[in-house]
Amino acid sequence: MTKTHSQNVIVFIGGGIIGLSTAYNLAKRHGTHIKIKIVEAFGKTFTAASSTCTGCINYGFTRDLVQLIGLGKYSFDLWAEEAQRSTASSNGFIQLTGYRPRSCFGIEPEGNGQGLDLLPDWVRRSSSWNVDDQVLGAHTAMVNPIGVGEWITKQCLDLGVEIQTGVQVVDITLSPENQVQAVTCVKKGTGGENCPSLTRIKCKQVVLACGPWTPTLYRTLFPLSPIHLQWNTDAGDWAEWENPCPTTQLTTAFVSFAHIIGEKLEFAARNNGTIWACGRRNLTAPLPPTGQMDKPDPSLIQELNDRALEWINWGCRCKETTHRQLQILSSGRAFRPASKTGLPIISEVPSPDLTGGGCSGDGSNQSGVFVCWGHGSYGLTLGMGSGKLMSQLMSREKTDIDLSLFTLGGSQSLHGDDGGNTGAPGKL
Ligand SMILES: Cc1cc2nc3c(=O)[nH]c(=O)nc-3n(C[C@H](O)[C@H](O)[C@H](O)COP(=O)(O)OP(=O)(O)OC[C@H]3O[C@@H](n4cnc5c(N)ncnc54)[C@H](O)[C@@H]3O)c2cc1C
Repeated sequence: MTKTHSQNVIVFIGGGIIGLSTAYNLAKRHGTHIKIKIVEAFGKTFTAASSTCTGCINYGFTRDLVQLIGLGKYSFDLWAEEAQRSTASSNGFIQLTGYRPRSCFGIEPEGNGQGLDLLPDWVRRSSSWNVDDQVLGAHTAMVNPIGVGEWITKQCLDLGVEIQTGVQVVDITLSPENQVQAVTCVKKGTGGENCPSLTRIKCKQVVLACGPWTPTLYRTLFPLSPIHLQWNTDAGDWAEWENPCPTTQLTTAFVSFAHIIGEKLEFAARNNGTIWACGRRNLTAPLPPTGQMDKPDPSLIQELNDRALEWINWGCRCKETTHRQLQILSSGRAFRPASKTGLPIISEVPSPDLTGGGCSGDGSNQSGVFVCWGHGSYGLTLGMGSGKLMSQLMSREKTDIDLSLFTLGGSQSLHGDDGGNTGAPGKL
């Protein structure tokens, strides 16, 4: 059965960092003058890559990603402002996220012990190492991504944003002028397989912020569109353990061992007493269906466990625990929303491009359909900036940063294969 809900709302598809930070900025800007609804396929917001990422906020981008430095700095400064506000007003940001500036380090082999004192207690150390405190650039901060999710979800709810979880958007209704009119959603576990419970939400704008599922959903919703969102598979298998050392502000840190072992390996200790690790990229794993998690490769998790045994200071006696074991608390696989260009899309889809013809009645080409996707390895960093810029775009205001680099039809290729698994290497 199809039910009709209220009109004139803005729907966000996806409750990861991109959907939530855009909704947060939009709600801050417009208060209760608009009704924002976030529709999330998982049973909880911040369940996919956004909660299972390393937690570095940084913009020391190099090579082909230098084009992202402006957006990176803009976003980094917005996160720093939230931290400042938190100390002034105790809005909970620092308490929940464990935000700690200048906390990303890289181990360099063949050194003489320079900078070793920067390392947190939970890292084993060798006097033949040096520590590079600019491994991710001069401007860094660490957060616990789960805490970021809790914080930003609460901000949205406090601002009146409605969040529906366990609900998947499956269809969109356009007017004859190619302007969005409504989205159709399916609630998980209702209606039975042959008769799913469908809800229709009338809306004037919709944002596709579905992380790695965005290209597939776009193609499903707009099969005739000449726009093909080109992406690469880029997954990361991760594991986490209890931190053997007591949790203090100084234990929140990122430590990269990439230069020791010759491939990506990073540990991140959080304000919840855990240490998280992720190793080499998986460029072939198929994306699971919407709202489903993928299982990690057991051999990769074993490898991470062996690395943890080697590099984490399990013998640390500073915690008042007598017996300690190396035990994996949880593990998983997360997918980066990686565009082929390496650049995100922060754009409205011009109305003729939704179907390959037609235009809005007012001749503006405004379709009310927006895409905020493709933040790859840097969605947590770039989320707050992208969210604010997207909220300005949706409000038809001048954006703080020129978005032509991130606009559909600009540098983003319109045509070509929209499948994944191209095997192109990631950037981080
Ligand atoms: C191992 C790893 C480490 C990382 N480390 C960092 C880091 O240190 N710093 C950094 O800045 N970035 C990092 N990233 C990147 C960052 O995690 C991502 O760029 C970011 O989380 C993407 O956010 P998102 O909101 O676009 O996607 P997601 O977090 O994937 O959220 C998208 C949401 O959309 C929902 N959805 C999809 N389709 C539908 C539908 N049809 N209906 C309803 N809901 C739908 C999904 O269920 C999902 O919850 C890392 C990523 C990985 C995998």
